Amino acid sequence: MSFETSLQQAQALDAADPLTIFREQFALPVARDGRPLIYLCGHSLGLAPRDARARVVEEIEDWEKLGVLGHEAARRPWIDYAELLQADLAQLAGALPIEVAAMNSLTVNLHLLLASFYRPSGPSDRRRRVLIEAGAFPSDRHVVTSQLAWHGCDPQADLLEAAPRPGEDLLRIEDVEALIDAHRDELALILWPGVQYRTGQAFDLARLAAAAHRAGALLCVDLAHSIGNTPLSLHDWNIDCAAWCGYKYLNGGPGAIGGLFVHQRHSDDGSRQRLSGWWGHDAATRFQMSPQFKPAMGAAGWQLSNPPILSSAPLLASLAQFRNAGIAALRAKSLLLTGFLRLLLEQRCGKELQMITPAAADEHACQLSLRIHGGAERARQVYKQLATRGLIADWREPDLVRLAPVPLYNRFADVWQAADTLADVLRLTA
Ligand SMILES: *Cc1c(COP(=O)(O)O)cnc(C)c1O
Repeated sequence: MSFETSLQQAQALDAADPLTIFREQFALPVARDGRPLIYLCGHSLGLAPRDARARVVEEIEDWEKLGVLGHEAARRPWIDYAELLQADLAQLAGALPIEVAAMNSLTVNLHLLLASFYRPSGPSDRRRRVLIEAGAFPSDRHVVTSQLAWHGCDPQADLLEAAPRPGEDLLRIEDVEALIDAHRDELALILWPGVQYRTGQAFDLARLAAAAHRAGALLCVDLAHSIGNTPLSLHDWNIDCAAWCGYKYLNGGPGAIGGLFVHQRHSDDGSRQRLSGWWGHDAATRFQMSPQFKPAMGAAGWQLSNPPILSSAPLLASLAQFRNAGIAALRAKSLLLTGFLRLLLEQRCGKELQMITPAAADEHACQLSLRIHGGAERARQVYKQLATRGLIADWREPDLVRLAPVPLYNRFADVWQAADTLADVLRLTA
Protein backbone atom coordinates (compact mmCIF):
# COMPACT_ATOMS: atom_id res chain seq x y z
CA MET A 1 0.00 0.00 0.00
CA SER A 2 1.42 3.39 -0.91
CA PHE A 3 1.63 6.22 1.56
CA GLU A 4 -1.01 8.19 -0.34
CA THR A 5 -3.74 5.73 0.46
CA SER A 6 -2.93 4.85 4.03
CA LEU A 7 -5.22 5.45 6.98
CA GLN A 8 -2.80 8.14 8.13
CA GLN A 9 -3.28 9.89 4.84
CA ALA A 10 -7.05 9.71 5.26
CA GLN A 11 -6.74 11.20 8.72
CA ALA A 12 -4.49 13.95 7.39
CA LEU A 13 -7.10 14.78 4.75
CA ASP A 14 -9.73 14.98 7.49
CA ALA A 15 -7.53 17.24 9.56
CA ALA A 16 -7.14 19.60 6.60
CA ASP A 17 -10.83 19.55 5.69
CA PRO A 18 -12.59 22.87 6.44
CA LEU A 19 -15.99 21.15 6.30
CA THR A 20 -15.28 18.54 8.96
CA ILE A 21 -17.21 20.63 11.53
CA PHE A 22 -20.46 19.81 9.72
CA ARG A 23 -20.24 16.14 10.67
CA GLU A 24 -21.03 17.14 14.26
CA GLN A 25 -24.29 18.62 13.05
CA PHE A 26 -25.62 15.16 12.16
CA ALA A 27 -26.62 12.13 14.21
CA LEU A 28 -24.41 9.19 13.22
CA PRO A 29 -26.00 5.74 13.39
CA VAL A 30 -24.42 3.08 15.61
CA ALA A 31 -24.69 -0.70 15.62
CA ARG A 32 -26.65 -2.53 18.34
CA ASP A 33 -23.42 -3.17 20.23
CA GLY A 34 -22.69 0.56 20.21
CA ARG A 35 -19.96 0.46 17.57
CA PRO A 36 -20.16 3.31 15.07
CA LEU A 37 -21.37 2.31 11.62
CA ILE A 38 -19.75 3.48 8.41
CA TYR A 39 -22.69 5.15 6.70
CA LEU A 40 -22.31 5.52 2.93
CA CYS A 41 -25.99 5.48 2.13
CA GLY A 42 -26.97 9.14 1.85
CA HIS A 43 -28.19 8.45 -1.68
CA SER A 44 -30.99 6.44 -0.14
CA LEU A 45 -31.72 8.22 3.13
CA GLY A 46 -29.72 11.19 4.36
CA LEU A 47 -28.77 11.29 8.04
CA ALA A 48 -30.70 13.28 10.65
CA PRO A 49 -29.47 16.80 11.29
CA ARG A 50 -29.05 17.22 15.05
CA ASP A 51 -31.40 20.21 14.95
CA ALA A 52 -34.17 18.22 13.26
CA ARG A 53 -35.58 17.03 16.57
CA ALA A 54 -35.76 20.58 17.98
CA ARG A 55 -37.43 21.88 14.81
CA VAL A 56 -40.09 19.13 15.00
CA VAL A 57 -40.60 19.53 18.75
CA GLU A 58 -41.11 23.27 18.33
CA GLU A 59 -43.97 22.63 15.94
CA ILE A 60 -45.55 20.06 18.24
CA GLU A 61 -45.25 22.48 21.15
CA ASP A 62 -46.84 25.26 19.15
CA TRP A 63 -49.60 22.92 18.07
CA GLU A 64 -50.18 21.89 21.70
CA LYS A 65 -50.21 25.50 22.91
CA LEU A 66 -51.97 27.18 20.06
CA GLY A 67 -54.13 24.71 18.20
CA VAL A 68 -55.47 26.27 15.04
CA LEU A 69 -54.02 29.65 16.00
CA GLY A 70 -50.60 28.22 15.15
CA HIS A 71 -51.33 28.84 11.49
CA GLU A 72 -50.58 32.49 12.21
CA ALA A 73 -49.12 32.59 15.72
CA ALA A 74 -46.61 29.72 15.71
CA ARG A 75 -42.95 30.76 15.98
CA ARG A 76 -42.85 29.92 12.30
CA PRO A 77 -46.42 30.49 11.13
CA TRP A 78 -47.64 27.37 9.36
CA ILE A 79 -49.34 29.33 6.60
CA ASP A 80 -45.96 30.55 5.38
CA TYR A 81 -43.93 27.47 6.29
CA ALA A 82 -43.28 26.27 2.73
CA GLU A 83 -41.86 29.70 1.91
CA LEU A 84 -39.27 29.28 4.69
CA LEU A 85 -37.71 26.54 2.58
CA GLN A 86 -37.88 28.39 -0.70
CA ALA A 87 -34.72 30.53 -0.73
CA ASP A 88 -32.40 27.68 0.23
CA LEU A 89 -34.01 25.28 -2.23
CA ALA A 90 -33.69 27.90 -4.97
CA GLN A 91 -30.01 28.25 -4.10
CA LEU A 92 -29.47 24.48 -4.42
CA ALA A 93 -31.52 24.27 -7.62
CA GLY A 94 -29.78 27.25 -9.20
CA ALA A 95 -33.15 28.89 -9.67
CA LEU A 96 -34.97 32.09 -8.91
CA PRO A 97 -36.88 31.72 -5.64
CA ILE A 98 -40.15 32.09 -7.53
CA GLU A 99 -39.23 29.08 -9.68
CA VAL A 100 -39.24 26.58 -6.78
CA ALA A 101 -41.78 25.30 -4.30
CA ALA A 102 -41.51 22.81 -1.44
CA MET A 103 -44.45 20.46 -1.80
CA ASN A 104 -45.62 16.83 -1.93
CA SER A 105 -43.20 14.05 -2.74
CA LEU A 106 -41.31 13.26 -5.89
CA THR A 107 -43.65 10.98 -7.82
CA VAL A 108 -46.64 13.20 -7.08
CA ASN A 109 -44.73 16.22 -8.31
CA LEU A 110 -43.70 14.45 -11.52
CA HIS A 111 -47.36 13.73 -12.24
CA LEU A 112 -48.32 17.34 -11.54
CA LEU A 113 -45.58 18.56 -13.87
CA LEU A 114 -46.59 16.18 -16.63
CA ALA A 115 -50.20 17.26 -16.20
CA SER A 116 -49.00 20.71 -17.27
CA PHE A 117 -46.12 19.92 -19.59
CA TYR A 118 -47.28 16.77 -21.34
CA ARG A 119 -50.51 17.64 -23.09
CA PRO A 120 -50.90 15.75 -26.38
CA SER A 121 -54.27 16.39 -27.96
CA GLY A 122 -54.76 12.60 -28.14
CA PRO A 123 -53.49 9.40 -29.73
CA SER A 124 -53.46 10.96 -33.17
CA ASP A 125 -51.30 13.92 -32.14
CA ARG A 126 -48.05 13.35 -34.02
CA ARG A 127 -46.07 14.98 -31.23
CA ARG A 128 -47.08 12.65 -28.43
CA ARG A 129 -44.02 10.51 -27.62
CA VAL A 130 -42.05 10.67 -24.38
CA LEU A 131 -38.36 9.78 -24.03
CA ILE A 132 -36.88 8.23 -20.88
CA GLU A 133 -33.74 6.22 -20.26
CA ALA A 134 -34.14 2.45 -20.51
CA GLY A 135 -32.89 1.92 -16.94
CA ALA A 136 -35.17 4.55 -15.41
CA PHE A 137 -36.25 4.26 -11.77
CA PRO A 138 -39.54 2.32 -11.81
CA SER A 139 -41.59 5.19 -10.40
CA ASP A 140 -40.44 7.53 -13.18
CA ARG A 141 -41.35 4.91 -15.77
CA HIS A 142 -44.76 4.36 -14.15
CA VAL A 143 -45.39 8.10 -14.23
CA VAL A 144 -44.69 8.25 -17.94
CA THR A 145 -46.50 5.08 -19.03
CA SER A 146 -49.58 5.95 -16.97
CA GLN A 147 -49.59 9.50 -18.37
CA LEU A 148 -49.40 8.05 -21.89
CA ALA A 149 -52.36 5.78 -21.14
CA TRP A 150 -54.22 8.65 -19.42
CA HIS A 151 -54.07 10.59 -22.68
CA GLY A 152 -55.24 7.60 -24.71
CA CYS A 153 -51.76 7.03 -26.14
CA ASP A 154 -49.97 3.69 -26.33
CA PRO A 155 -47.77 3.19 -23.24
CA GLN A 156 -45.46 0.93 -25.24
CA ALA A 157 -45.33 2.34 -28.73
CA ASP A 158 -45.33 5.96 -27.62
CA LEU A 159 -42.62 5.45 -25.02
CA LEU A 160 -39.14 5.98 -26.37
CA GLU A 161 -36.22 4.56 -24.39
CA ALA A 162 -32.55 5.44 -24.65
CA ALA A 163 -30.39 2.43 -23.81
CA PRO A 164 -26.62 2.10 -23.47
CA ARG A 165 -24.86 0.41 -26.37
CA PRO A 166 -24.72 -3.41 -26.12
CA GLY A 167 -22.22 -4.43 -23.47
CA GLU A 168 -22.06 -0.94 -21.95
CA ASP A 169 -23.55 0.39 -18.72
CA LEU A 170 -23.49 4.09 -19.39
CA LEU A 171 -25.38 6.27 -21.81
CA ARG A 172 -23.40 8.29 -24.30
CA ILE A 173 -24.85 11.74 -24.55
CA GLU A 174 -24.19 11.89 -28.29
CA ASP A 175 -26.36 8.77 -28.70
CA VAL A 176 -29.14 10.41 -26.71
CA GLU A 177 -28.86 13.55 -28.82
CA ALA A 178 -29.02 11.47 -31.99
CA LEU A 179 -32.12 9.68 -30.74
CA ILE A 180 -33.79 12.98 -29.90
CA ASP A 181 -32.93 14.33 -33.31
CA ALA A 182 -34.22 11.22 -35.07
CA HIS A 183 -37.61 11.71 -33.40
CA ARG A 184 -37.74 15.45 -33.66
CA ASP A 185 -41.26 15.53 -35.08
CA GLU A 186 -42.75 13.12 -32.57
CA LEU A 187 -41.23 13.98 -29.23
CA ALA A 188 -43.36 15.93 -26.76
CA LEU A 189 -41.35 15.50 -23.59
CA ILE A 190 -38.14 14.05 -22.18
CA LEU A 191 -38.01 12.90 -18.56
CA TRP A 192 -34.38 12.57 -17.56
CA PRO A 193 -32.39 12.13 -14.34
CA GLY A 194 -29.73 14.61 -13.26
CA VAL A 195 -27.80 11.64 -11.85
CA GLN A 196 -28.76 8.06 -12.76
CA TYR A 197 -29.69 6.24 -9.55
CA ARG A 198 -28.11 2.89 -10.45
CA THR A 199 -24.90 3.85 -12.21
CA GLY A 200 -24.23 7.24 -10.61
CA GLN A 201 -23.73 8.75 -14.08
CA ALA A 202 -24.31 12.52 -14.10
CA PHE A 203 -25.62 14.22 -17.21
CA ASP A 204 -24.99 17.56 -18.89
CA LEU A 205 -28.51 18.89 -18.42
CA ALA A 206 -27.91 22.11 -20.34
CA ARG A 207 -26.85 20.08 -23.35
CA LEU A 208 -29.92 17.84 -23.06
CA ALA A 209 -32.21 20.86 -22.69
CA ALA A 210 -30.74 22.34 -25.87
CA ALA A 211 -31.25 19.05 -27.71
CA ALA A 212 -34.84 18.79 -26.46
CA HIS A 213 -35.62 22.34 -27.52
CA ARG A 214 -34.05 21.88 -30.97
CA ALA A 215 -36.48 18.99 -31.41
CA GLY A 216 -39.44 21.04 -30.22
CA ALA A 217 -39.76 19.01 -27.00
CA LEU A 218 -39.63 19.94 -23.31
CA LEU A 219 -37.18 18.64 -20.72
CA CYS A 220 -38.41 17.57 -17.28
CA VAL A 221 -35.61 16.57 -14.90
CA ASP A 222 -35.71 14.16 -11.97
CA LEU A 223 -33.31 15.54 -9.37
CA ALA A 224 -33.68 12.76 -6.76
CA HIS A 225 -29.93 12.05 -6.87
CA SER A 226 -28.78 15.53 -7.85
CA ILE A 227 -30.14 18.14 -5.49
CA GLY A 228 -27.84 18.67 -2.54
CA ASN A 229 -25.24 16.54 -4.32
CA THR A 230 -24.03 18.54 -7.32
CA PRO A 231 -24.37 22.27 -7.99
CA LEU A 232 -27.29 22.99 -10.30
CA SER A 233 -28.21 25.96 -12.51
CA LEU A 234 -31.67 24.99 -13.65
CA HIS A 235 -32.61 28.51 -14.66
CA ASP A 236 -29.53 29.19 -16.79
CA TRP A 237 -29.55 25.68 -18.23
CA ASN A 238 -33.02 26.42 -19.51
CA ILE A 239 -34.58 23.34 -17.92
CA ASP A 240 -38.35 23.45 -18.38
CA CYS A 241 -39.35 21.79 -15.13
CA ALA A 242 -37.94 19.49 -12.44
CA ALA A 243 -38.88 17.67 -9.25
CA TRP A 244 -37.04 16.10 -6.31
CA CYS A 245 -37.51 14.31 -3.01
CA GLY A 246 -36.38 15.72 0.32
CA TYR A 247 -34.99 12.63 2.03
CA LYS A 248 -31.90 11.63 0.03
CA TYR A 249 -29.07 14.18 -0.13
CA LEU A 250 -31.35 16.84 1.37
CA ASN A 251 -31.55 14.94 4.70
CA GLY A 252 -35.20 15.85 5.29
CA GLY A 253 -36.07 12.52 6.92
CA PRO A 254 -38.10 9.52 5.72
CA GLY A 255 -40.92 10.63 3.45
CA ALA A 256 -39.89 14.29 3.77
CA ILE A 257 -41.53 17.01 1.74
CA GLY A 258 -40.19 17.20 -1.82
CA GLY A 259 -40.19 20.05 -4.28
CA LEU A 260 -40.47 21.21 -7.83
CA PHE A 261 -39.07 23.74 -10.26
CA VAL A 262 -40.93 25.44 -13.08
CA HIS A 263 -38.88 27.74 -15.28
CA GLN A 264 -40.04 31.32 -15.06
CA ARG A 265 -40.86 31.48 -18.75
CA HIS A 266 -43.55 28.83 -18.25
CA SER A 267 -45.20 30.44 -15.27
CA ASP A 268 -45.01 34.16 -16.02
CA ASP A 269 -48.59 34.73 -17.04
CA GLY A 270 -50.26 32.03 -14.95
CA SER A 271 -52.14 30.73 -17.97
CA ARG A 272 -50.60 27.28 -18.16
CA GLN A 273 -53.07 24.49 -17.51
CA ARG A 274 -52.52 22.58 -14.30
CA LEU A 275 -54.22 20.40 -11.76
CA SER A 276 -54.97 22.91 -9.03
CA GLY A 277 -55.71 23.10 -5.34
CA TRP A 278 -56.39 25.92 -2.90
CA TRP A 279 -52.77 26.19 -1.75
CA GLY A 280 -51.72 27.08 -5.28
CA HIS A 281 -54.07 30.06 -5.22
CA ASP A 282 -52.54 33.53 -4.94
CA ALA A 283 -51.63 33.78 -1.24
CA ALA A 284 -52.96 37.34 -0.94
CA THR A 285 -56.53 36.26 -1.67
CA ARG A 286 -56.45 32.54 -0.80
CA PHE A 287 -58.59 32.94 2.28
CA GLN A 288 -61.30 34.87 0.51
CA MET A 289 -62.28 31.37 -0.56
CA SER A 290 -63.47 32.52 -3.95
CA PRO A 291 -64.62 29.81 -6.37
CA GLN A 292 -62.34 31.35 -9.01
CA PHE A 293 -58.78 29.94 -9.10
CA LYS A 294 -56.11 32.60 -9.38
CA PRO A 295 -52.72 30.86 -9.44
CA ALA A 296 -49.88 32.14 -7.30
CA MET A 297 -47.01 33.41 -9.42
CA GLY A 298 -44.32 30.88 -10.17
CA ALA A 299 -43.91 27.31 -8.98
CA ALA A 300 -46.04 28.01 -5.89
CA GLY A 301 -49.03 28.02 -8.22
CA TRP A 302 -48.64 24.24 -8.59
CA GLN A 303 -49.20 23.58 -4.87
CA LEU A 304 -52.34 21.68 -3.99
CA SER A 305 -52.54 21.35 -0.23
CA ASN A 306 -51.30 23.13 2.85
CA PRO A 307 -47.82 21.73 3.56
CA PRO A 308 -47.06 18.93 6.07
CA ILE A 309 -45.31 20.91 8.79
CA LEU A 310 -43.89 17.90 10.65
CA SER A 311 -42.26 16.53 7.51
CA SER A 312 -40.94 19.98 6.56
CA ALA A 313 -39.33 20.87 9.90
CA PRO A 314 -36.30 18.51 9.57
CA LEU A 315 -35.65 19.86 6.09
CA LEU A 316 -35.43 23.34 7.54
CA ALA A 317 -32.68 22.08 9.87
CA SER A 318 -30.79 20.46 7.01
CA LEU A 319 -31.05 23.41 4.63
CA ALA A 320 -29.40 25.59 7.27
CA GLN A 321 -26.37 23.29 7.08
CA PHE A 322 -26.27 23.56 3.28
CA ARG A 323 -26.49 27.34 3.57
CA ASN A 324 -23.58 27.43 6.01
CA ALA A 325 -21.37 25.02 4.09
CA GLY A 326 -22.21 26.18 0.56
CA ILE A 327 -22.84 23.74 -2.27
CA ALA A 328 -19.65 24.76 -4.14
CA ALA A 329 -17.46 23.88 -1.14
CA LEU A 330 -19.40 20.67 -0.60
CA ARG A 331 -18.89 19.68 -4.21
CA ALA A 332 -15.15 20.44 -4.01
CA LYS A 333 -14.87 18.12 -0.99
CA SER A 334 -17.14 15.57 -2.65
CA LEU A 335 -14.82 15.26 -5.63
CA LEU A 336 -11.88 14.61 -3.31
CA LEU A 337 -13.81 12.21 -1.11
CA THR A 338 -15.22 10.14 -3.95
CA GLY A 339 -11.91 10.37 -5.80
CA PHE A 340 -10.15 8.99 -2.73
CA LEU A 341 -12.64 6.12 -2.54
CA ARG A 342 -12.12 5.33 -6.21
CA LEU A 343 -8.35 5.32 -5.81
CA LEU A 344 -8.48 3.05 -2.76
CA LEU A 345 -10.83 0.62 -4.46
CA GLU A 346 -8.73 0.50 -7.61
CA GLN A 347 -5.58 -0.15 -5.62
CA ARG A 348 -6.98 -2.70 -3.22
CA CYS A 349 -9.89 -4.38 -5.03
CA GLY A 350 -9.21 -3.54 -8.67
CA LYS A 351 -9.37 -7.09 -10.00
CA GLU A 352 -12.42 -8.05 -8.00
CA LEU A 353 -14.80 -5.40 -9.16
CA GLN A 354 -15.77 -3.15 -12.00
CA MET A 355 -16.38 0.53 -11.33
CA ILE A 356 -19.52 1.43 -13.27
CA THR A 357 -19.63 5.12 -12.41
CA PRO A 358 -17.71 7.36 -14.84
CA ALA A 359 -14.41 8.77 -13.62
CA ALA A 360 -14.65 12.22 -15.27
CA ALA A 361 -15.57 14.88 -12.71
CA ASP A 362 -18.47 16.26 -14.71
CA GLU A 363 -19.95 12.80 -15.22
CA HIS A 364 -20.32 11.69 -11.63
CA ALA A 365 -21.62 12.94 -8.32
CA CYS A 366 -20.73 11.44 -4.93
CA GLN A 367 -21.91 7.88 -5.54
CA LEU A 368 -19.78 5.02 -6.86
CA SER A 369 -21.51 1.92 -8.23
CA LEU A 370 -19.46 -1.26 -8.12
CA ARG A 371 -20.11 -4.49 -9.95
CA ILE A 372 -18.75 -7.38 -7.92
CA HIS A 373 -17.14 -10.06 -10.08
CA GLY A 374 -17.79 -13.76 -9.57
CA GLY A 375 -21.52 -13.94 -10.19
CA ALA A 376 -24.67 -12.70 -8.52
CA GLU A 377 -24.43 -15.20 -5.66
CA ARG A 378 -21.01 -14.03 -4.59
CA ALA A 379 -21.98 -10.39 -5.05
CA ARG A 380 -24.92 -10.81 -2.71
CA GLN A 381 -22.68 -12.60 -0.22
CA VAL A 382 -20.22 -9.70 -0.32
CA TYR A 383 -22.96 -7.17 0.27
CA LYS A 384 -24.29 -9.14 3.27
CA GLN A 385 -20.81 -9.36 4.75
CA LEU A 386 -20.36 -5.61 4.44
CA ALA A 387 -23.52 -5.06 6.45
CA THR A 388 -22.36 -7.55 9.09
CA ARG A 389 -19.13 -5.59 9.43
CA GLY A 390 -20.91 -2.30 9.95
CA LEU A 391 -20.68 -0.79 6.48
CA ILE A 392 -24.06 0.62 5.44
CA ALA A 393 -24.07 0.56 1.65
CA ASP A 394 -26.83 -0.61 -0.62
CA TRP A 395 -27.58 -3.27 -3.09
CA ARG A 396 -29.11 -3.23 -6.57
CA GLU A 397 -29.96 -6.44 -8.36
CA PRO A 398 -28.28 -8.38 -9.77
CA ASP A 399 -24.70 -7.53 -8.75
CA LEU A 400 -24.26 -3.85 -7.83
CA VAL A 401 -23.13 -2.27 -4.58
CA ARG A 402 -23.61 1.48 -4.30
CA LEU A 403 -21.44 3.59 -2.00
CA ALA A 404 -22.13 7.28 -1.50
CA PRO A 405 -19.72 9.32 0.64
CA VAL A 406 -21.57 12.51 1.56
CA PRO A 407 -19.37 15.57 2.12
CA LEU A 408 -21.60 17.04 4.85
CA TYR A 409 -21.04 14.14 7.24
CA ASN A 410 -18.61 11.58 5.84
CA ARG A 411 -14.89 11.67 6.53
CA PHE A 412 -11.94 10.49 4.49
CA ALA A 413 -11.38 7.99 7.30
CA ASP A 414 -14.88 6.57 6.64
CA VAL A 415 -13.98 6.08 3.03
CA TRP A 416 -10.72 4.38 3.97
CA GLN A 417 -12.57 2.12 6.41
CA ALA A 418 -15.14 1.24 3.74
CA ALA A 419 -12.47 0.29 1.20
CA ASP A 420 -10.56 -1.69 3.84
CA THR A 421 -13.73 -3.59 4.79
CA LEU A 422 -14.59 -4.30 1.17
CA ALA A 423 -11.04 -5.50 0.44
CA ASP A 424 -11.25 -7.86 3.43
CA VAL A 425 -14.63 -9.25 2.45
CA LEU A 426 -13.54 -9.76 -1.15
CA ARG A 427 -10.51 -11.71 0.03
CA LEU A 428 -12.60 -13.89 2.32
CA THR A 429 -15.23 -14.65 -0.31
CA ALA A 430 -12.75 -15.23 -3.14
C1 LIG B 1 -35.82 7.93 -4.80
C2 LIG B 1 -36.41 8.06 -6.15
C3 LIG B 1 -37.81 8.07 -6.33
C4 LIG B 1 -38.74 7.90 -5.15
O1 LIG B 1 -39.96 8.52 -5.35
P1 LIG B 1 -40.90 8.98 -4.14
O2 LIG B 1 -42.08 9.52 -4.83
O3 LIG B 1 -40.14 9.98 -3.34
O4 LIG B 1 -41.21 7.77 -3.32
C5 LIG B 1 -38.29 8.24 -7.62
N1 LIG B 1 -37.46 8.36 -8.69
C6 LIG B 1 -36.12 8.36 -8.53
C7 LIG B 1 -35.23 8.52 -9.72
C8 LIG B 1 -35.56 8.19 -7.27
O5 LIG B 1 -34.24 8.13 -7.13
